[in-house]
Order: sequence, then C-alpha cells, then structure tokens
Amino acid sequence: MKKYDVLVVGAGFAGSVSARALADRGKSVLILESRDHIGGNAYDFMDEMNVLQHKYGPHIFHTCSEKAINFLSRFTEWYPYEHRVLGLVQDKVVPIPFNLKSIELCFGEEMGRHLKNALIRSYGTETKVPILELRQSDNEEVKELAEFIFENVFKYYTMKQWDMTAEEIDPSVTGRVPVSISYDDRYFGDYFQKMPKDGYTELFKQMLNHSLIDVELNCDATERIEIDLEERRILFDGEEFEGDVIYSGIVDGLFHYQLGELSYRSLDFDVQHKDGTFQECATVNYPTPKEVHPFTRITEFKYFMEHKPQNTTTIAIEYPMPYDRNGEKGNVPYYPVFTDESKAQYEQYVEMANRIPNLHLLGRLAEYRYYNMDEIVERALELVETLA
Ligand code: FAD
Ligand code: UDP
Repeated sequence: MKKYDVLVVGAGFAGSVSARALADRGKSVLILESRDHIGGNAYDFMDEMNVLQHKYGPHIFHTCSEKAINFLSRFTEWYPYEHRVLGLVQDKVVPIPFNLKSIELCFGEEMGRHLKNALIRSYGTETKVPILELRQSDNEEVKELAEFIFENVFKYYTMKQWDMTAEEIDPSVTGRVPVSISYDDRYFGDYFQKMPKDGYTELFKQMLNHSLIDVELNCDATERIEIDLEERRILFDGEEFEGDVIYSGIVDGLFHYQLGELSYRSLDFDVQHKDGTFQECATVNYPTPKEVHPFTRITEFKYFMEHKPQNTTTIAIEYPMPYDRNGEKGNVPYYPVFTDESKAQYEQYVEMANRIPNLHLLGRLAEYRYYNMDEIVERALELVETLA
C-alpha cells in the first residue's frame, strides 16, 4: 500500500482544510471518510427541484476571520447572503434574534416605546445581551420583558432542541442568540456573510483537488485504526503509523467507548418539495411548546442560492431527537451536549488521547465544542502550522 505522511479522519472542514494545508506544504495525505461523500455536515447537493439542499441542516457562512476568508477564497467565489430569521411569538411573526423591532411588533407602539427606552437606559444601543443575563436585570420593567422573551423565544425551543431547560444547558448555548438592542435584524453580526457561489460540496471538491491528497469514502476509520495506549502508538491496518493522525470524528468512538458514551443530540429532517415559495425568509423558528409544534425550525433552502428556481422549492422541517448510534434515525451526532458531567467525561478521553504523541483531535466532534465552520477553518490552519 502507498505510504502517506499524514492520515486524516473525516472530510468535513476540519479534515479537508488540514489536508489541503498539509498538501500545500508538500505532505502526502490520506483522508478516510465514513460517508459516501466529502464536505462533512456542510455537504449540499442539487435536488430534483433544482434547489441546492443542505443535507445536514442549514449552513450559513459568516466570519470575521481574514485567515479563513483568504484560505477558502482560493477554492470558491462567493454570493453575498445575510441570514435573517423570523420566529412565531404568540400569534405574531417577529425577527429573531429578538430586537427592538420585535418589541414593537409584540407590544405595540406605546408600550413598545416604553420597553425599548427601559432597555436602552440599562444597556445602551447597538448592544447584545444574552437572555440569561437579561433575566438578572435589577430594573423591574426590563426583568418583565426578559421573562416574556424567555418564555416565548427560549424556553420551549431550548427544551425541544436539547431535552433540557435553558438553565441546565451551558449558558454559552443560548448566548449564541442574544437579545439585540438595535434594529439590526440579521441573525449574525460578522462583517463577512457570504455563501460559496456553487455550494459547499463544490468548494470541498476544489480544496481536495491536489495530487498529494487521496480520499477513501465509505470507510469507518475506527475499523482501520487502533490506538495502542501501552506502547503509545497508532496502528493503521495492523502496522504502526508514525506520521501525524488528525482525527475529526467522535472521540468516544475512537476509543471504542471505553469510558462510556459521550452525550450528543441528533436531528431528523422532514424534507418536502413544494410549488412556488413557502415562507418569507430562509428560516422560521417555532419557539412554541412541543405539543403545538413538535419541531424547532423550518428552512427553505433556495434563499441561500444566487439563482433561485421560481416555481419550485424545498423545505426541511427540523425535529431534534436523542442520539442513538445504532438507531435507524438519530444516528448522526450533530451536537455535543454541554453539561458539567459530559465535559468532565470528555476531558478523560482527552487525557487518553494525549498519551499518543502523533494523534491530534480536531473539529466540532473531536474537540466536543460548538464550533462554527470558520472557527474550524482557523483551528485546522493553526494545527497544520504547529505540525510544520
Ligand atoms: P463535520 O462536518 O461533522 O465532519 C466530520 C466528518 O468526519 C464527517 O464527514 C464524518 O462522516 C467523518 N467521520 C466521523 N467519524 C469518522 C470515522 N470514524 N471514520 C471516517 N470518517 C468519520 N456552522 C456555521 O458556521 N454556520 C451555520 O449556519 C451552521 N449551521 C449548522 C447547522 C447544524 C444543524 C449543525 C449540526 C451545525 C451547524 N454548523 C454551522 C456547524 C458546522 O456544521 C461545523 O462547524 C462544521 O461542520 C465542523 O466541521 P468538522 O469537520 O469538525 O465536522
Ligand atoms: N434558541 C432559542 N430560540 C430561538 C433560537 C435559538 O431558544 O429561536 C436557543 C436554543 O437553545 C438553541 C441556541 O439558542 O439551541 C442556539 O441557537 P442557534 O440558532 O445558534 O443553533 P444552531 O443553528 O447551532 O442549531
């Protein structure tokens, strides 16, 4: 078999960016990918409605990282797209993140003005406040408003998404969508908000198109790689592999669940094809109780495309569900679930991994962190710099 300098597990952003950056430095790389395609969770494909569908949920690229932009721009042109989300709050459809406009829509002009002023007096304008912090406000009116937002935007969505309360999950999770004391109704604040012009999969194809990179699809690396903790080495197909191994899968899986299973949350997407256009923006959130809407959000993919089909559309209704690696459904570990217990268990796996000098954990799963795509690109480039 051909000898490679580096072995990479996973062809998502973590694996593919590392592989390309290594190949650019003259290293030969073999990527092992268990799925039948590259791109990881960012994978997209043109469906029968001529819509570029995101198979693993909506992926919007946004960043302030020049490093990530410069690297990825070698492999794609971009289509400017700013993500806006609406949410069903009581009987109204209002902008999410909840902002000054959402207050006006929910409370009417007079009461709305009053509440906006109370907020601005406490926090200033053009600021963002996580909901859990807003609930701690000393100002009675702000506190009441915070309870309204909590109840109608966060409480049930979070229960549905995580099967735990917003108080139980790590505060950084709800902090991703802070209450916005401004009229900026974009979902993300980064200055660079663009989609790869021909889609993510095409971007990955270009990125991996290098003579020093080979990709093996349909290959579960944990069946080929063995971690020998005694001898502190990695075996690949039964022989010692002395080069670096970059691993972007789940870390409990790598160690065959020796310390128990880490906690993940999964999703099920009900994909439907329709005539015309379904909703007025790409994503509509349903922060309502499970009994009213058993799903969290509906995404209409054609909004992400530069050339949208006019008469047809594809939507995905997103149902959170427990992760079950052997299940027919729910077998994709979409999100690490952050609790003190799961983080401590993860650290024990990291201690095991650290005993192997040429093993590097990288990515949303392997690092057990809620990373966005741009953060993974940066981390991959940094890792390759340290290896060089
Ligand atoms: P992944 O993309 O998960 O890639 C890991 C790859 O490794 C997969 O292809 C997997 O099949 C493979 N693999 C795993 N184990 C093995 C094994 N044993 N053998 C072989 N291959 C293996 N980020 C944003 O910036 N914007 C967004 O809008 C956004 N939306 C998201 C929506 C959802 C529903 C989810 C779940 C995530 C979203 N993200 C978003 C985050 C984004 O998906 C991640 O940052 C990114 O995919 C991380 O890349 P990765 O390479 O670490 O992981
Ligand atoms: N969230 C919520 N209501 C919303 C939007 C988000 O409660 O309308 C909370 C929920 O806990 C969610 C978290 O904020 O898991 C992060 O939301 P984000 O949209 O970033 O989630 P992702 O796109 O990563 O699934």
